[in-house]
Amino acid sequence: MKEARGAHERSATSLSDLQRRSSRREVRPTDQPPEGATHKDAKPVLSFTAKRRGKAPSHLADLDAAGRKQVLKDLGMPGFRADQLSRHYFTHFEADPSNMSDIPAGMREAVSGALLPKLVTKVVSLEADGGRTIKDLWRLYDGAQVESVLMRYPQRTTLCVSSQAGCGMACPFCATGQMGLTRNLSTAEIVDQVREAQASCRDGKLAGGSTALSNVVFMGMGEPLANYKTVVAALHRLIDPAPEGFGMSARNITVSTVGLVPAIKKLAGEGMPVTLAVSLHAPDDDLRDELIPINSRWKVGELLDAARAYFLATGRRVSIEYALIKDMNDQEWRAQLLADELNKRGHGWVHVNPIPLNPTPGSIWTASTRSAQEAFVKRLRDNGIATSIRDTRGSDIDGACGQLATAVADGKRAVGEGRA
Ligand code: SAH
Repeated sequence: MKEARGAHERSATSLSDLQRRSSRREVRPTDQPPEGATHKDAKPVLSFTAKRRGKAPSHLADLDAAGRKQVLKDLGMPGFRADQLSRHYFTHFEADPSNMSDIPAGMREAVSGALLPKLVTKVVSLEADGGRTIKDLWRLYDGAQVESVLMRYPQRTTLCVSSQAGCGMACPFCATGQMGLTRNLSTAEIVDQVREAQASCRDGKLAGGSTALSNVVFMGMGEPLANYKTVVAALHRLIDPAPEGFGMSARNITVSTVGLVPAIKKLAGEGMPVTLAVSLHAPDDDLRDELIPINSRWKVGELLDAARAYFLATGRRVSIEYALIKDMNDQEWRAQLLADELNKRGHGWVHVNPIPLNPTPGSIWTASTRSAQEAFVKRLRDNGIATSIRDTRGSDIDGACGQLATAVADGKRAVGEGRA
Protein backbone atom coordinates (compact mmCIF):
# COMPACT_ATOMS: atom_id res chain seq x y z
CA MET A 1 0.00 0.00 0.00
CA LYS A 2 2.83 2.29 1.03
CA GLU A 3 4.56 1.44 -2.22
CA ALA A 4 1.44 2.36 -4.16
CA ARG A 5 1.07 5.68 -2.38
CA GLY A 6 4.69 6.46 -3.11
CA ALA A 7 4.04 5.78 -6.74
CA HIS A 8 1.09 8.15 -6.74
CA GLU A 9 3.18 10.89 -5.26
CA ARG A 10 5.79 10.29 -7.91
CA SER A 11 3.06 10.34 -10.49
CA ALA A 12 1.92 13.81 -9.49
CA THR A 13 5.41 15.24 -9.92
CA SER A 14 6.11 13.38 -13.13
CA LEU A 15 2.89 14.51 -14.72
CA SER A 16 3.48 18.18 -14.12
CA ASP A 17 7.08 17.73 -15.26
CA LEU A 18 5.85 16.11 -18.40
CA GLN A 19 3.38 18.88 -19.04
CA ARG A 20 6.02 21.51 -18.48
CA ARG A 21 8.41 19.77 -20.83
CA SER A 22 5.97 19.08 -23.61
CA SER A 23 3.78 21.75 -25.07
CA ARG A 24 0.35 20.53 -26.22
CA ARG A 25 1.57 20.72 -29.78
CA GLU A 26 3.97 17.85 -29.20
CA VAL A 27 1.07 15.48 -28.77
CA ARG A 28 0.28 15.82 -32.45
CA PRO A 29 2.34 12.92 -33.74
CA THR A 30 3.18 13.98 -37.29
CA ASP A 31 5.06 16.86 -38.79
CA GLN A 32 2.19 17.32 -41.27
CA PRO A 33 -1.10 19.08 -40.55
CA PRO A 34 -4.22 16.98 -41.29
CA GLU A 35 -5.68 17.11 -44.78
CA GLY A 36 -7.57 20.35 -45.45
CA ALA A 37 -6.07 22.11 -42.41
CA THR A 38 -5.98 25.88 -42.57
CA HIS A 39 -3.16 26.35 -40.07
CA LYS A 40 -0.10 24.28 -39.27
CA ASP A 41 -1.08 23.31 -35.72
CA ALA A 42 -4.48 21.97 -36.71
CA LYS A 43 -5.58 18.61 -35.34
CA PRO A 44 -8.16 16.26 -36.85
CA VAL A 45 -11.51 16.97 -35.24
CA LEU A 46 -13.87 14.54 -33.56
CA SER A 47 -16.80 13.70 -35.75
CA PHE A 48 -19.89 11.53 -35.59
CA THR A 49 -21.14 12.78 -38.94
CA ALA A 50 -20.16 10.96 -42.10
CA LYS A 51 -18.94 12.89 -45.14
CA ARG A 52 -20.97 10.56 -47.34
CA ARG A 53 -24.64 9.83 -46.93
CA GLY A 54 -25.08 6.98 -49.44
CA LYS A 55 -25.82 3.48 -48.23
CA ALA A 56 -24.57 0.21 -49.67
CA PRO A 57 -27.14 -1.80 -51.64
CA SER A 58 -29.31 -3.96 -49.41
CA HIS A 59 -28.02 -7.52 -48.96
CA LEU A 60 -29.07 -10.81 -47.42
CA ALA A 61 -26.57 -10.31 -44.58
CA ASP A 62 -28.32 -7.07 -43.57
CA LEU A 63 -31.47 -9.05 -42.79
CA ASP A 64 -32.59 -11.69 -40.35
CA ALA A 65 -34.32 -14.87 -41.61
CA ALA A 66 -37.78 -13.26 -41.68
CA GLY A 67 -36.47 -10.23 -43.59
CA ARG A 68 -34.85 -12.45 -46.24
CA LYS A 69 -38.09 -14.42 -46.76
CA GLN A 70 -40.04 -11.19 -47.15
CA VAL A 71 -37.70 -9.90 -49.88
CA LEU A 72 -38.14 -13.16 -51.82
CA LYS A 73 -41.89 -13.08 -51.32
CA ASP A 74 -41.94 -9.56 -52.76
CA LEU A 75 -40.08 -10.96 -55.78
CA GLY A 76 -42.68 -13.70 -56.12
CA MET A 77 -40.28 -16.45 -55.01
CA PRO A 78 -40.99 -19.15 -52.44
CA GLY A 79 -39.72 -18.63 -48.90
CA PHE A 80 -37.62 -21.81 -48.85
CA ARG A 81 -35.23 -20.12 -51.25
CA ALA A 82 -34.22 -17.81 -48.39
CA ASP A 83 -33.00 -20.82 -46.47
CA GLN A 84 -31.10 -22.11 -49.51
CA LEU A 85 -29.42 -18.77 -50.13
CA SER A 86 -28.58 -18.40 -46.45
CA ARG A 87 -26.91 -21.81 -46.46
CA HIS A 88 -24.82 -20.86 -49.47
CA TYR A 89 -23.74 -17.65 -47.80
CA PHE A 90 -23.31 -18.59 -44.12
CA THR A 91 -22.36 -22.28 -44.43
CA HIS A 92 -20.50 -22.47 -47.76
CA PHE A 93 -19.31 -18.83 -47.79
CA GLU A 94 -20.61 -18.52 -51.36
CA ALA A 95 -21.96 -15.10 -52.38
CA ASP A 96 -22.19 -15.42 -56.17
CA PRO A 97 -25.58 -16.73 -57.37
CA SER A 98 -24.02 -17.96 -60.63
CA ASN A 99 -22.23 -20.65 -58.58
CA MET A 100 -25.46 -21.81 -56.91
CA SER A 101 -26.54 -24.81 -58.97
CA ASP A 102 -29.70 -25.40 -56.94
CA ILE A 103 -31.04 -21.91 -57.75
CA PRO A 104 -32.78 -21.98 -61.15
CA ALA A 105 -30.72 -20.06 -63.74
CA GLY A 106 -33.67 -17.78 -64.53
CA MET A 107 -33.90 -16.70 -60.91
CA ARG A 108 -30.24 -15.89 -60.30
CA GLU A 109 -30.22 -12.38 -61.68
CA ALA A 110 -33.18 -11.28 -59.60
CA VAL A 111 -31.65 -12.90 -56.51
CA SER A 112 -28.33 -11.22 -57.18
CA GLY A 113 -29.95 -7.78 -57.46
CA ALA A 114 -32.22 -8.11 -54.46
CA LEU A 115 -30.17 -10.12 -51.98
CA LEU A 116 -26.62 -10.74 -53.18
CA PRO A 117 -25.13 -7.63 -54.80
CA LYS A 118 -21.32 -7.72 -54.79
CA LEU A 119 -20.29 -5.60 -51.83
CA VAL A 120 -16.52 -5.92 -51.47
CA THR A 121 -13.87 -6.12 -54.19
CA LYS A 122 -10.26 -6.88 -53.38
CA VAL A 123 -7.87 -4.02 -54.21
CA VAL A 124 -4.68 -5.49 -52.80
CA SER A 125 -3.70 -8.43 -50.65
CA LEU A 126 -0.42 -8.58 -48.70
CA GLU A 127 1.13 -11.48 -46.83
CA ALA A 128 3.48 -11.42 -43.86
CA ASP A 129 4.72 -13.67 -41.07
CA GLY A 130 5.50 -16.50 -43.47
CA GLY A 131 1.99 -16.43 -44.93
CA ARG A 132 0.26 -16.64 -41.52
CA THR A 133 -0.94 -13.03 -41.82
CA ILE A 134 -2.91 -11.71 -44.79
CA LYS A 135 -4.02 -8.12 -45.01
CA ASP A 136 -6.64 -7.17 -47.57
CA LEU A 137 -7.75 -3.80 -48.80
CA TRP A 138 -11.34 -3.83 -50.09
CA ARG A 139 -13.15 -1.39 -52.37
CA LEU A 140 -16.81 -0.85 -51.54
CA TYR A 141 -19.66 -0.02 -53.94
CA ASP A 142 -18.95 3.73 -53.83
CA GLY A 143 -15.16 3.52 -54.06
CA ALA A 144 -14.58 3.84 -50.29
CA GLN A 145 -11.84 1.49 -49.10
CA VAL A 146 -11.48 -0.54 -45.90
CA GLU A 147 -8.98 -3.04 -44.56
CA SER A 148 -9.21 -6.43 -42.89
CA VAL A 149 -6.40 -8.58 -41.49
CA LEU A 150 -6.44 -12.36 -41.09
CA MET A 151 -3.98 -13.83 -38.58
CA ARG A 152 -3.26 -17.49 -37.91
CA TYR A 153 -2.01 -18.51 -34.47
CA PRO A 154 -1.32 -22.02 -33.17
CA GLN A 155 -4.68 -22.25 -31.36
CA ARG A 156 -6.89 -19.84 -33.27
CA THR A 157 -7.38 -17.84 -36.45
CA THR A 158 -8.49 -14.26 -36.00
CA LEU A 159 -9.94 -11.72 -38.42
CA CYS A 160 -9.67 -8.01 -37.69
CA VAL A 161 -12.61 -6.24 -39.41
CA SER A 162 -13.46 -2.63 -40.23
CA SER A 163 -16.78 -1.11 -39.15
CA GLN A 164 -16.44 2.32 -40.80
CA ALA A 165 -14.59 3.77 -43.80
CA GLY A 166 -12.20 6.12 -42.01
CA CYS A 167 -12.96 7.13 -38.43
CA GLY A 168 -14.23 10.25 -36.71
CA MET A 169 -12.46 9.73 -33.39
CA ALA A 170 -9.28 11.59 -34.45
CA CYS A 171 -6.82 9.73 -32.20
CA PRO A 172 -3.50 11.34 -33.16
CA PHE A 173 -1.40 8.14 -33.14
CA CYS A 174 -3.78 6.17 -35.37
CA ALA A 175 -3.53 6.24 -39.18
CA THR A 176 -7.31 5.87 -39.58
CA GLY A 177 -7.87 8.65 -37.06
CA GLN A 178 -6.02 11.01 -39.39
CA MET A 179 -8.39 10.28 -42.30
CA GLY A 180 -11.62 11.48 -40.75
CA LEU A 181 -14.90 9.60 -41.18
CA THR A 182 -15.95 8.84 -44.74
CA ARG A 183 -19.01 6.78 -43.85
CA ASN A 184 -20.44 4.00 -41.75
CA LEU A 185 -20.32 0.52 -43.26
CA SER A 186 -23.56 -1.38 -43.66
CA THR A 187 -24.09 -4.58 -41.69
CA ALA A 188 -23.52 -6.70 -44.81
CA GLU A 189 -20.30 -4.82 -45.66
CA ILE A 190 -18.96 -5.88 -42.27
CA VAL A 191 -20.30 -9.43 -42.51
CA ASP A 192 -18.93 -9.86 -46.03
CA GLN A 193 -15.38 -9.22 -44.77
CA VAL A 194 -15.99 -12.16 -42.43
CA ARG A 195 -17.39 -14.37 -45.20
CA GLU A 196 -14.34 -13.66 -47.37
CA ALA A 197 -12.09 -14.62 -44.44
CA GLN A 198 -14.09 -17.80 -43.75
CA ALA A 199 -13.61 -18.80 -47.40
CA SER A 200 -9.88 -17.95 -47.31
CA CYS A 201 -9.41 -20.08 -44.17
CA ARG A 202 -11.27 -23.03 -45.65
CA ASP A 203 -9.44 -22.74 -48.97
CA GLY A 204 -6.01 -22.88 -47.32
CA LYS A 205 -4.97 -19.32 -48.21
CA LEU A 206 -3.11 -19.02 -44.90
CA ALA A 207 0.16 -20.92 -44.49
CA GLY A 208 -0.45 -24.19 -42.65
CA GLY A 209 -3.38 -25.37 -44.77
CA SER A 210 -7.12 -25.31 -44.44
CA THR A 211 -8.50 -24.10 -41.13
CA ALA A 212 -11.60 -22.52 -39.61
CA LEU A 213 -12.01 -18.89 -38.63
CA SER A 214 -12.42 -18.91 -34.86
CA ASN A 215 -12.19 -15.26 -33.75
CA VAL A 216 -13.28 -11.85 -35.00
CA VAL A 217 -12.06 -8.56 -33.53
CA PHE A 218 -13.57 -5.16 -34.40
CA MET A 219 -10.16 -3.52 -34.42
CA GLY A 220 -9.89 -2.52 -38.05
CA MET A 221 -10.89 0.89 -39.36
CA GLY A 222 -13.57 2.79 -37.50
CA GLU A 223 -15.17 3.10 -34.11
CA PRO A 224 -17.66 0.20 -33.94
CA LEU A 225 -19.79 1.76 -31.21
CA ALA A 226 -20.25 4.92 -33.31
CA ASN A 227 -22.00 2.66 -35.85
CA TYR A 228 -23.92 0.92 -33.11
CA LYS A 229 -27.07 -0.56 -34.67
CA THR A 230 -25.21 -1.81 -37.70
CA VAL A 231 -22.49 -3.43 -35.62
CA VAL A 232 -25.01 -5.11 -33.30
CA ALA A 233 -26.81 -6.55 -36.35
CA ALA A 234 -23.43 -7.76 -37.69
CA LEU A 235 -22.72 -9.40 -34.33
CA HIS A 236 -26.02 -11.28 -34.70
CA ARG A 237 -25.03 -12.52 -38.16
CA LEU A 238 -21.69 -13.71 -36.75
CA ILE A 239 -23.19 -15.44 -33.72
CA ASP A 240 -26.63 -16.67 -34.80
CA PRO A 241 -26.67 -20.38 -35.65
CA ALA A 242 -26.44 -21.36 -39.33
CA PRO A 243 -28.13 -20.78 -41.67
CA GLU A 244 -29.30 -17.52 -40.08
CA GLY A 245 -25.68 -16.61 -39.30
CA PHE A 246 -22.19 -18.14 -39.14
CA GLY A 247 -22.79 -19.65 -35.68
CA MET A 248 -19.51 -18.35 -34.22
CA SER A 249 -19.00 -18.28 -30.47
CA ALA A 250 -19.79 -14.87 -28.92
CA ARG A 251 -16.89 -15.22 -26.53
CA ASN A 252 -14.52 -15.32 -29.51
CA ILE A 253 -15.71 -11.96 -30.79
CA THR A 254 -14.22 -8.73 -29.49
CA VAL A 255 -15.66 -5.25 -29.92
CA SER A 256 -12.99 -2.60 -29.36
CA THR A 257 -13.96 0.95 -28.44
CA VAL A 258 -12.35 4.27 -27.86
CA GLY A 259 -14.77 4.63 -24.92
CA LEU A 260 -18.29 5.66 -25.93
CA VAL A 261 -19.73 5.13 -22.46
CA PRO A 262 -23.50 5.13 -23.23
CA ALA A 263 -22.94 2.63 -26.06
CA ILE A 264 -20.91 0.35 -23.76
CA LYS A 265 -23.85 0.38 -21.34
CA LYS A 266 -26.25 -0.44 -24.15
CA LEU A 267 -24.06 -3.26 -25.46
CA ALA A 268 -24.03 -4.80 -21.98
CA GLY A 269 -27.80 -5.23 -22.31
CA GLU A 270 -27.86 -6.88 -25.76
CA GLY A 271 -27.63 -10.41 -24.35
CA MET A 272 -24.59 -11.19 -26.48
CA PRO A 273 -21.58 -12.02 -24.31
CA VAL A 274 -19.00 -10.64 -26.73
CA THR A 275 -15.68 -9.48 -25.31
CA LEU A 276 -15.28 -5.75 -24.81
CA ALA A 277 -11.90 -4.12 -25.43
CA VAL A 278 -11.33 -0.57 -24.22
CA SER A 279 -8.59 1.45 -25.92
CA LEU A 280 -7.42 3.22 -22.79
CA HIS A 281 -3.79 4.14 -23.59
CA ALA A 282 -3.52 6.38 -20.52
CA PRO A 283 -4.83 6.01 -16.94
CA ASP A 284 -5.02 9.78 -16.29
CA ASP A 285 -7.31 12.33 -17.91
CA ASP A 286 -4.50 14.82 -18.53
CA LEU A 287 -2.77 12.56 -21.00
CA ARG A 288 -5.85 10.70 -22.24
CA ASP A 289 -7.51 14.01 -23.18
CA GLU A 290 -4.66 14.42 -25.66
CA LEU A 291 -4.31 10.85 -26.92
CA ILE A 292 -8.02 10.05 -27.23
CA PRO A 293 -10.03 13.16 -28.06
CA ILE A 294 -13.36 11.60 -26.99
CA ASN A 295 -11.95 11.62 -23.46
CA SER A 296 -13.10 15.25 -23.40
CA ARG A 297 -16.63 13.81 -23.28
CA TRP A 298 -16.23 10.64 -21.16
CA LYS A 299 -13.44 10.57 -18.61
CA VAL A 300 -11.23 7.67 -17.56
CA GLY A 301 -13.19 7.08 -14.34
CA GLU A 302 -16.57 6.90 -16.10
CA LEU A 303 -15.13 4.69 -18.80
CA LEU A 304 -13.63 2.20 -16.37
CA ASP A 305 -16.89 2.16 -14.39
CA ALA A 306 -18.77 1.29 -17.60
CA ALA A 307 -16.18 -1.39 -18.45
CA ARG A 308 -16.56 -2.91 -14.99
CA ALA A 309 -20.38 -2.86 -15.36
CA TYR A 310 -19.95 -4.62 -18.71
CA PHE A 311 -18.01 -7.38 -17.00
CA LEU A 312 -20.69 -7.74 -14.33
CA ALA A 313 -23.49 -7.89 -16.92
CA THR A 314 -21.82 -10.36 -19.30
CA GLY A 315 -19.28 -12.28 -17.23
CA ARG A 316 -16.73 -11.51 -19.94
CA ARG A 317 -13.37 -10.26 -18.77
CA VAL A 318 -12.71 -6.84 -20.32
CA SER A 319 -9.50 -6.17 -22.28
CA ILE A 320 -7.68 -2.89 -21.78
CA GLU A 321 -5.67 -1.88 -24.86
CA TYR A 322 -2.58 0.18 -24.15
CA ALA A 323 -0.26 1.24 -27.01
CA LEU A 324 3.11 1.89 -25.37
CA ILE A 325 4.50 5.18 -26.71
CA LYS A 326 8.05 6.10 -25.79
CA ASP A 327 8.25 8.72 -23.02
CA MET A 328 4.56 9.47 -23.49
CA ASN A 329 2.50 6.92 -21.56
CA ASP A 330 5.05 4.21 -20.71
CA GLN A 331 6.33 5.41 -17.31
CA GLU A 332 6.24 2.96 -14.41
CA TRP A 333 4.19 5.41 -12.37
CA ARG A 334 1.53 5.27 -15.06
CA ALA A 335 1.55 1.47 -14.89
CA GLN A 336 1.02 1.82 -11.14
CA LEU A 337 -1.78 4.34 -11.61
CA LEU A 338 -3.42 2.01 -14.17
CA ALA A 339 -3.15 -0.94 -11.76
CA ASP A 340 -4.66 1.17 -8.96
CA GLU A 341 -7.54 2.38 -11.14
CA LEU A 342 -8.33 -1.21 -12.17
CA ASN A 343 -7.87 -2.81 -8.74
CA LYS A 344 -10.04 -0.28 -7.00
CA ARG A 345 -12.93 -1.50 -9.16
CA GLY A 346 -12.36 -5.19 -8.33
CA HIS A 347 -10.07 -8.09 -9.12
CA GLY A 348 -10.06 -10.60 -11.96
CA TRP A 349 -12.40 -8.56 -14.13
CA VAL A 350 -9.89 -7.19 -16.55
CA HIS A 351 -6.88 -8.08 -18.65
CA VAL A 352 -4.35 -5.54 -19.94
CA ASN A 353 -2.93 -5.82 -23.45
CA PRO A 354 0.00 -3.48 -23.92
CA ILE A 355 1.16 -3.24 -27.53
CA PRO A 356 4.25 -1.37 -28.70
CA LEU A 357 3.13 1.61 -30.80
CA ASN A 358 3.23 0.93 -34.51
CA PRO A 359 4.30 4.42 -35.62
CA THR A 360 2.28 6.00 -38.41
CA PRO A 361 4.33 7.40 -41.29
CA GLY A 362 5.85 10.78 -40.43
CA SER A 363 5.09 10.28 -36.73
CA ILE A 364 7.27 11.99 -34.14
CA TRP A 365 6.34 9.18 -31.74
CA THR A 366 7.99 5.80 -31.46
CA ALA A 367 7.40 2.55 -29.63
CA SER A 368 8.64 2.22 -26.07
CA THR A 369 11.98 0.57 -25.49
CA ARG A 370 12.04 -3.12 -24.65
CA SER A 371 13.12 -2.34 -21.09
CA ALA A 372 10.33 0.22 -20.60
CA GLN A 373 7.81 -2.33 -21.90
CA GLU A 374 9.11 -4.96 -19.53
CA ALA A 375 9.05 -2.62 -16.54
CA PHE A 376 5.49 -1.54 -17.42
CA VAL A 377 4.26 -5.13 -17.67
CA LYS A 378 6.09 -6.16 -14.50
CA ARG A 379 4.53 -3.32 -12.51
CA LEU A 380 1.05 -4.37 -13.64
CA ARG A 381 1.68 -8.05 -12.87
CA ASP A 382 3.21 -7.22 -9.48
CA ASN A 383 -0.11 -5.54 -8.72
CA GLY A 384 -2.06 -8.67 -9.66
CA ILE A 385 -3.24 -7.48 -13.09
CA ALA A 386 -3.34 -10.16 -15.82
CA THR A 387 -1.19 -8.68 -18.57
CA SER A 388 0.04 -9.92 -21.94
CA ILE A 389 1.95 -7.98 -24.57
CA ARG A 390 -0.03 -8.11 -27.80
CA ASP A 391 2.05 -9.17 -30.76
CA THR A 392 2.56 -6.81 -33.65
CA ARG A 393 1.50 -9.01 -36.52
CA GLY A 394 2.01 -7.62 -39.97
CA SER A 395 3.73 -4.35 -39.07
CA ASP A 396 5.82 -4.84 -42.24
CA ILE A 397 2.60 -4.75 -44.28
CA ASP A 398 1.28 -1.55 -42.73
CA GLY A 399 -0.49 -3.76 -40.19
CA ALA A 400 -1.70 -0.99 -37.89
CA CYS A 401 -5.15 0.33 -38.38
CA GLY A 402 -5.53 2.42 -41.54
CA GLN A 403 -1.92 2.26 -42.61
CA LEU A 404 -2.41 0.14 -45.72
CA ALA A 405 -5.25 2.31 -47.02
CA THR A 406 -3.10 5.40 -46.45
CA ALA A 407 -0.10 3.85 -48.19
CA VAL A 408 -2.17 2.87 -51.24
CA ALA A 409 -3.79 6.31 -51.39
CA ASP A 410 -0.35 7.94 -51.22
CA GLY A 411 0.95 5.68 -54.01
CA LYS A 412 3.54 4.05 -51.74
CA ARG A 413 1.99 0.62 -52.30
CA ALA A 414 1.16 -0.47 -55.79
CA VAL A 415 -2.31 -1.90 -56.25
CA GLY A 416 -2.06 -5.67 -56.72
CA GLU A 417 1.25 -5.84 -54.85
CA GLY A 418 1.65 -9.29 -53.33
CA ARG A 419 3.98 -10.57 -50.65
CA ALA A 420 5.47 -7.92 -48.34
N1 SAH B 1 -11.94 2.50 -32.74
C1 SAH B 1 -11.73 1.29 -32.01
C2 SAH B 1 -11.21 0.13 -32.85
C3 SAH B 1 -10.17 0.38 -33.91
S1 SAH B 1 -8.48 0.57 -33.49
C4 SAH B 1 -10.81 1.54 -30.84
O1 SAH B 1 -10.28 2.62 -30.75
O2 SAH B 1 -10.69 0.66 -29.99
C5 SAH B 1 -7.94 -0.94 -32.77
C6 SAH B 1 -6.84 -0.74 -31.75
O3 SAH B 1 -5.60 -0.34 -32.37
C7 SAH B 1 -7.17 0.35 -30.73
O4 SAH B 1 -6.80 -0.08 -29.45
C8 SAH B 1 -6.28 1.48 -31.19
O5 SAH B 1 -6.05 2.42 -30.18
C9 SAH B 1 -5.04 0.74 -31.65
N2 SAH B 1 -4.14 1.50 -32.52
C10 SAH B 1 -4.43 2.44 -33.43
N3 SAH B 1 -3.32 2.91 -34.01
C11 SAH B 1 -2.28 2.26 -33.45
C12 SAH B 1 -0.87 2.32 -33.62
N4 SAH B 1 -0.33 3.16 -34.48
N5 SAH B 1 -0.10 1.49 -32.87
C13 SAH B 1 -0.67 0.64 -31.98
N6 SAH B 1 -1.99 0.54 -31.78
C14 SAH B 1 -2.80 1.35 -32.49
